[in-house]
Amino acid sequence: MVVVGAGIIGAACARALSKKGFSVTIVERGASVGGTSASGEGNLLVSDKAPGAELTMAQYASRLWPDLVAELANELGRDFPSLEFEPKGGLVVTLADGDARALESFAAHQREYGVRAEPLGAAEARLLEPDLNPRISSAVFYPDDAQVQPVIAAEAFLASARALGTRVVLGASVIGALAGDQGELAGVRTTKGDFPCDHVVVAAGPWSGEVARVLGGSLPVAPRKGFILVTSRMTQRVHHKVYDADYVGAVESDDRGLQTSTVVESTASGTVLIGSSRERVGFDASLDVAVVSELATKATRLFPFLSEASLMRVYCGFRPFVPDHVPVIGEDPTCPGLWYATGHEGAGIGLAPSTAEILAATLSGEEPAIDADPYSPARPSLASFLTNEPTE
Ligand SMILES: Cc1cc2nc3c(=O)[nH]c(=O)nc-3n(C[C@H](O)[C@H](O)[C@H](O)COP(=O)(O)OP(=O)(O)OC[C@H]3O[C@@H](n4cnc5c(N)ncnc54)[C@H](O)[C@@H]3O)c2cc1C
Repeated sequence: MVVVGAGIIGAACARALSKKGFSVTIVERGASVGGTSASGEGNLLVSDKAPGAELTMAQYASRLWPDLVAELANELGRDFPSLEFEPKGGLVVTLADGDARALESFAAHQREYGVRAEPLGAAEARLLEPDLNPRISSAVFYPDDAQVQPVIAAEAFLASARALGTRVVLGASVIGALAGDQGELAGVRTTKGDFPCDHVVVAAGPWSGEVARVLGGSLPVAPRKGFILVTSRMTQRVHHKVYDADYVGAVESDDRGLQTSTVVESTASGTVLIGSSRERVGFDASLDVAVVSELATKATRLFPFLSEASLMRVYCGFRPFVPDHVPVIGEDPTCPGLWYATGHEGAGIGLAPSTAEILAATLSGEEPAIDADPYSPARPSLASFLTNEPTE
């Protein structure tokens, strides 16, 4: 079996497939974990997901992460860096001019689906985050939100997969399909030679639409750009994941235009990460100072002390966007042997473990722990977007 892409999804899937006894080769056109998985924040969130297929996956992932982190640490030993897993919880707030009712009813709806979402008064919220703007009007605490260092987590999946027998071929770009006697998919052609196999799993992040197309499939994945700001190191003053309730609207929106909403968190190294923007501008990686400025301004509304902080770094990445906002996991209905594990948009770090489990179970003919149908590439909500034309 060939997995295309050595990001967190390809790495997690390769590990789970190797565990099931499949012989796995990852082909990656660049270096390992050099795509979107190196450009995110590492939030493992249930809080930003409305009831539906993505929330179900996030709840499943949230059950998997703690044991997985312990398992990986045990397997990889002390010399491997910590995944910096922090089950710190998330605090979602509205400021005085925000829509407190919308946040409260969103949380109430999530609670009906088993999400732990605890409404807090402003004073209680400030006990959790003493440096929060006192002008907050409502807050909800999500104890199950957590955080990892995404590059280390992806490299850990990859190291574990290698130890289980996965072969990793770097610098090999997939450029076409190998056809069998009956014209069926029989492997991939790459810039480093041919890799015959029965199954190909496309885990190529925002490039998955293009990879699917050259392999004979069809998948509506497009890049959705996002900027992150990184402050210089400081004494810890942000203790949870803290974000403005308008973030949820930005995550769920289909708008091509620019949206910014604030997510603030500290990291183990002492930096503060400020995210994030969303816009559909293809793979244009140019710096947009207006976006950076808007993110910084919004972050200082949440935490006024940040106006004194200096920025160490700004970077952007491309989320793998699909039009119905649900990851795609399963076999292409028109191209037997071509499988997908992609389309996680802004949640692929968090959803990597559940994606890998669903894919490995389905490919093994087993019943996954959660129903796989909502993630199928054949689901009705994707049908009108399927085309063999190049994506953006
Ligand atoms: C600004 C920003 C913030 C984010 N924050 C979070 C967050 O807090 N929490 C969260 O869960 N998610 C977050 N995400 C989303 C998350 O980063 C992605 O969903 C996830 O990294 C996708 O992983 P992937 O393995 O599918 O893709 P990638 O990491 O992009 O890996 C795909 C790989 O495929 C390779 N590839 C592409 N084409 C080919 C080819 N033809 N041949 C061979 N290899 C190929 C690429 O080189 C790449 O290495 C964020 C994303 C962004 C941009």
